[in-house]
Amino acid sequence: MNHLPLDLQEQAHQIGRDVLAVHADDVDQYSRFPKESMDALKQAGWLSAYVPRDFGGLGLNLPQIAEICDILGHYCGSTAMIFAMHQIQVACIVHHHRKRGFFVEYLRQLVREQRLIASATTEIGVGGDLRSSICAVETDGDRFRITKKAPVISYGEDADDLILTARRNPDAPKSDQVHVLLLDGQYQLEQIGTWDALGFRGTRSDGYIVTGEAPTEQILPTPFADILSQTMHPFAHITWSSLWAGIAADAVDKARRFVKKEAKRNLDMPPISAIRLGEVDTVLQTLRHNIGQCMEEYQRMIDEDDANAFTQFGFGIRINNLKISSSELIVDIVGKAMLICGISGYRNDSEFSLCRHIRDAYGAALMVNNDRIMLHNATLLLMHKDR
Ligand SMILES: Cc1cc2nc3c(=O)[nH]c(=O)nc-3n(C[C@H](O)[C@H](O)[C@H](O)COP(=O)(O)OP(=O)(O)OC[C@H]3O[C@@H](n4cnc5c(N)ncnc54)[C@H](O)[C@@H]3O)c2cc1C
Repeated sequence: MNHLPLDLQEQAHQIGRDVLAVHADDVDQYSRFPKESMDALKQAGWLSAYVPRDFGGLGLNLPQIAEICDILGHYCGSTAMIFAMHQIQVACIVHHHRKRGFFVEYLRQLVREQRLIASATTEIGVGGDLRSSICAVETDGDRFRITKKAPVISYGEDADDLILTARRNPDAPKSDQVHVLLLDGQYQLEQIGTWDALGFRGTRSDGYIVTGEAPTEQILPTPFADILSQTMHPFAHITWSSLWAGIAADAVDKARRFVKKEAKRNLDMPPISAIRLGEVDTVLQTLRHNIGQCMEEYQRMIDEDDANAFTQFGFGIRINNLKISSSELIVDIVGKAMLICGISGYRNDSEFSLCRHIRDAYGAALMVNNDRIMLHNATLLLMHKDR
């Protein structure tokens, strides 16, 4: 697996320290878009980090994108989440459409203008069921119209473009879906809900009615079911898990500094919390190990460019298990770190505060509800042949 080159690692930490960390509390307190942080990432050219070099992008691979997510997660969970969500949309285009007319030029434009892409899969009436849509594409000649009631679109107002799911046409069943790209100016957002949530407050995931009209060439030609299984699912579960690992690692680092400070008070005996530090570090290692394994498998599948490999149940189950376990481990790790830091971790006004970390941590299980994913996995497991 390729690691992020050292200069990019250092650059990510520098942006994290100098920009994300500086604004993270304000972003969280006011539930506002992390504009300064996203501007810094745009300036670095990282919104096109996954775009191949032929198109002018950085040409990073998935493990390298995941490493950036992890590093950013140390400094501001919301920025890291926005970065990850954007990269997932970019990956859908790069994997499935980079050779097709409109999208060739779109990728170049994305590189030049560092365009930020939001996503609307969740819909009023189907909730988080990614494989169902109520709204439908209505085609008229070489143009289409769409209206979608979306209860949550992260950074919808601050994005340049929007990718949404819809039924292929008004007569199509709810699972016959397409992925549609709408550019700035081609869609309107009527706000129907605000985002005053427990965590990931900077994602500003307000609710909207989206209405749009655009040329039909912006309907992504690959069926959404394939985009989901081959890219959106695995890419999301790996990048999300990575940024959750970053948040968790920052919590462990605070706990480490706390124990170190305590240890200086009594040089004869390490504080009791030192044992807990050892314990929480093993859980963090498990989280990282799980991510590494799935990432290696998925990157190999991307490199081999074998669409059939994705029809195997095993990979789908493993990638779902990764999401479920990562979203549980982040809560466990941050909770353990808080136990170590005690009241200093529980306070909002302490250098060891873990309040934002714990609030963000609880969002992980809801980003496509774990129960939905588990039911899906259970169905797949029951379909396995008995030996
Ligand atoms: C920080 C954050 C950012 C987000 N950003 C976006 C975004 O940018 N774009 C977007 O489209 N969405 C976004 N979402 C939405 C998210 O991905 C989920 O789709 C959404 O949170 C689902 O909401 P829900 O859990 O209330 O609904 P549901 O998934 O409908 O679940 C509600 C409850 O019903 C249960 N349930 C219902 N049906 C089933 C079933 N068939 N099987 C098992 N259980 C079932 C669930 O377990 C759960 O208990 C975001 C969510 C978060 C937390």
